[in-house]
Amino acid sequence: MARPAPCWRRDLLTALTVAGTAGGVLLGLALRHSADRPWGARAVMYVGFPGDVFLQMLKSLILPLIVSSIAAAVGSLDLRLSGRIGARAVAYYCATTVSAILLGVALCAAVRPGAGGPPDKAAAGGARNVTTVDTLLDLVRNMFPPNLVQACISLYQTELSPPKTLPGQDPPANSTLHDWDIGGVHVPGTNTLGLVVFAVVMGVAIARMGAEAAPLLAFFRSLSAAMMVITGWVIWISPFGVMFLIAAKVISMESLSVLAGQLGWYFMTVLVGLLVHGFVVLPLFYTIVTKKLPFRFLLNMAEAITTAFGTASSNATLPVSMRCLEERNGVDPRVSKFVMPIGATINMDGTALYEAVAALFIAQARGRQLSAGQYLAVSVTATMASIGAAGIPQAGLVTMVMVLDTVGLPAEDVTLIIAVDWLLDRFRTTINVVGDALGAGIVASLSGKELGVADPEGSAEADGKAAVVVGDD
Ligand code: ASP
Repeated sequence: MARPAPCWRRDLLTALTVAGTAGGVLLGLALRHSADRPWGARAVMYVGFPGDVFLQMLKSLILPLIVSSIAAAVGSLDLRLSGRIGARAVAYYCATTVSAILLGVALCAAVRPGAGGPPDKAAAGGARNVTTVDTLLDLVRNMFPPNLVQACISLYQTELSPPKTLPGQDPPANSTLHDWDIGGVHVPGTNTLGLVVFAVVMGVAIARMGAEAAPLLAFFRSLSAAMMVITGWVIWISPFGVMFLIAAKVISMESLSVLAGQLGWYFMTVLVGLLVHGFVVLPLFYTIVTKKLPFRFLLNMAEAITTAFGTASSNATLPVSMRCLEERNGVDPRVSKFVMPIGATINMDGTALYEAVAALFIAQARGRQLSAGQYLAVSVTATMASIGAAGIPQAGLVTMVMVLDTVGLPAEDVTLIIAVDWLLDRFRTTINVVGDALGAGIVASLSGKELGVADPEGSAEADGKAAVVVGDD
């Protein structure tokens, strides 16, 4: 179990991380303006090198951390209990994702960021190469990987190809994607969803087996503890790593003025939505459920928030956010180890809001009038797209395709928003992480009685009460 770090070290680390973020922006701007021609790819690579190494370190922790912490957390709970904690977590995920999407749709309808003609280089519409149904079926297929080793390095993806015609024969007129030949490939990546599902099932088996599975449980617990120790070391590199990741990005941006141009309204709509959701709606949920002010809790998550912004990856932030929750906010590790890895994989409020706004923006920019039914369809697929998006940089852009598909827009239209996506990705990842963290705080507070633990120390401090809840089972 994680030991709390001394006060001065925690504050120093927070100060360094915030300084690293600001330093990265300043360094990037200074380097950008120091040269009279655009920076070459090699020079950008050199600037980003320390950041890339930091990112690789974080990524290497993910796989053993996710599997061991979920298996250990589910395995050590009595099943009746993990059922209840799981139900609370799922209820929270659903409620917050729906509210994020409603907020996004409402903002988009009010601001109409895409109104007034298409943005410049409007991409020509072309053939879509996958249907919504295929994307959803791939999601389910990936939940149950046939080979766990393969799941560590690849994901399944359906691929459609135009029907073959005999020589001299014309392709069938009006053929739709549903008539295309269907096949599948394994693309490189980590099938996190599949591994999460396996770890949950393994945890349930361990919990059911009792004494017989004790060595296995001890193994997962000890592995998870070791991963947290390593994380503690890597965390001290984060101010430095985040600084270079951000600096390299600032240097390589095509044009700063693009942000202020036609995409400005879209950008601002998503940004305002994300900020309102992450720093008003979610903290309100937290305050209503836990009867505590959220400020201290959020401040204690500062390292996770800056790491999310710096890495644009919920998965890479996972070790940091779990550590912040357990050490600084005093959330019961049994809850954080259960809620966070699952949340990082499937609960992405920021991504959900962005998917809805982006699809509506593109529809507006293309001059499409959407029916009420289509608004609903966008909302539902945006939810699916956020669940299906992996916690890695710009994964949301990939699952955008299925949202566009529901309103009959071609996949190529994502090019309309690509210019600003790298920056929005950082903001939405931050909100994804904030959403998971507040969720863990809420679930821990609701489950305090069953867990039979003292009330989270950090949050009790927040309103000056030392509440102790003693479990009755
Ligand atoms: N980068 C996001 C995350 O890791 C996912 C997305 O692209 O929206 O949470």
